[in-house]
Amino acid sequence: MCSIIGYLGDIAAAQIVVNGLKRMEYRGYDSVGIATFFGNQILVRKGVGKVEEVNSKVKLYMLSGNIGIGHTRWATHGRVNETNAHPHLSSSGEIAIVHNGIIDNYKELKESLQRDGYRFRSETDSEVIANLLQYNFDTIKNIKDSMIKTVSVLRGDYSFVAVFPDGTLSAARFHEPLILGVGKSGYFISSDVLGFVQYTDEAIYPNNGEIIIINANGLQFLDFLGRPVKHEITKISREFADVYKGKYAHFTLKEISEQPNTILKTADNTRSELELFIELVKNAKSLHITGSGTSYNAALIAKHIFLKYAKIKIESVIASEARFYPDYFDNHSILIALSQSGESADVLEAVKMAKRHNSTVISIVNTMTSSLPQISSVSVGLNCGPEIGVAATKSFTSQLGILYKIADNIAGGHIGFDSQKISQSMKEILVDHSKIRDIAKILSYASDIYIIGRGIHYPIALEASLKLKELTYIHAEGLPGGELKHGPLALMDPSVYVIIINPHDSTNQENLASAHEIKVRGAKIIGISDKYDDTYDYWIKIPTISEALFPFIEIVPIQLLAYYAAVEKHTDPDYPRNLAKSVTVK
Ligand code: GLU
Repeated sequence: MCSIIGYLGDIAAAQIVVNGLKRMEYRGYDSVGIATFFGNQILVRKGVGKVEEVNSKVKLYMLSGNIGIGHTRWATHGRVNETNAHPHLSSSGEIAIVHNGIIDNYKELKESLQRDGYRFRSETDSEVIANLLQYNFDTIKNIKDSMIKTVSVLRGDYSFVAVFPDGTLSAARFHEPLILGVGKSGYFISSDVLGFVQYTDEAIYPNNGEIIIINANGLQFLDFLGRPVKHEITKISREFADVYKGKYAHFTLKEISEQPNTILKTADNTRSELELFIELVKNAKSLHITGSGTSYNAALIAKHIFLKYAKIKIESVIASEARFYPDYFDNHSILIALSQSGESADVLEAVKMAKRHNSTVISIVNTMTSSLPQISSVSVGLNCGPEIGVAATKSFTSQLGILYKIADNIAGGHIGFDSQKISQSMKEILVDHSKIRDIAKILSYASDIYIIGRGIHYPIALEASLKLKELTYIHAEGLPGGELKHGPLALMDPSVYVIIINPHDSTNQENLASAHEIKVRGAKIIGISDKYDDTYDYWIKIPTISEALFPFIEIVPIQLLAYYAAVEKHTDPDYPRNLAKSVTVK
């Protein structure tokens, strides 16, 4: 979701702030802005659009000063326009803030500040932070106490960075990400290590409910009551610096293409955690699994393989729905939480609820420095490197990789999880995109696509529909094959395309029967299978592999189909409209 960044140091802040915002673009946003402190004044430039677009219009880079803050906004309160873009200034213009999250009680705070004569310019909830800081600073005349007083009345989830009238940079973190970078040239405050990793690999991860103050006297951490907090510096893995597209046209294509390697690396850095994870799952009295979007689709596959091969029942629950099922959780239950970013607000909320009911939380996460591992008893890393494309691709197959490793261990190898074999099969699909590209061209004109799968392939049908929606903006729906005649068959006509996920396994014959029913109604069939069938209008061949392992390889051509259809439609596959990579608000 949105990104915030701050810098205080020896070099020009605007460049650093803008570069940091660019590297965090994948998080998703609609407008951008920066502020610097120069000559005892705060200078602000902002606008609607991508960092580069706004920069070319208003020359963000040109702002002078060695202290600066920046923001990419994903609007929650107030329209997407220049006034609502951050940074926001206090009414006197002496304090500037950038904010990530939502201030729940902004209306009452705003009304009270307005009664005291503080002016508001925007429709955002965030502006209240600037005026509240100003109000407290006007009264107390002390930055530390103004920060403490301000956070004591703010309700909601937030992280913000503020510039004070003497050029002090101060930040607060409450249920939204915030990381401090310690560089040779100065300090960085950012939503993501990508905001500063090109300048330093030394970071401090403040806890939830902490304040950071940086000025000429150095750096201080305080809790919300003002008590000093000590932190160790952590070394960030250098792989996070690897966020360039290289020879690929888009991050999405790069990440799809990386899967033969990333599937081999799952959980590599967290082997002992994996063992602990397995022990906990084996001995659990009741198990639930949660995630959002793609992670939830991985959870559905996990549910299937754990039951079929390891004889372990897992109840799946969509993270945003978990709060409506509090009775799932008690001190005997374990919740497995899946999240690429480790910052998905819905997943964190589900986890917090499970913890309130004394459940044990274990998680599978890509960004091990994020919030989710910190609140889990055990966390296993996907280890697939940064995923920048908003639509999840390699993180999905890596999540499956870990879930299969665990299930296979418990099932005594009955699944036959073989990452080398999967990797090889993925390579065979990826070696030549030309046929998939041709089909994608045709598909890009479709207005409705249905994807059908049975059994273990049904969650792949759901994941396929998600990829197609995200990347192509075409209406797509995943269906269990057997449900066709209970309704969706009414929608079949010559304008419709149906993708059938149909490897030669126990689901094959029934799928072919469905294909016939669809075909006689005029819809076009795209078969994804290791064997040809003449009901297919288009056939995407996948290698033969054991039934349990098909999901790993059948998703790859679907990712490519969605990617190339997006390219055909001239939509941006890396940054689909209205979506954000890391959904940090509920
Ligand atoms: N709630 C704030 C706004 O709408 C911040 C949103 C964000 O995190 O980008 O401006």
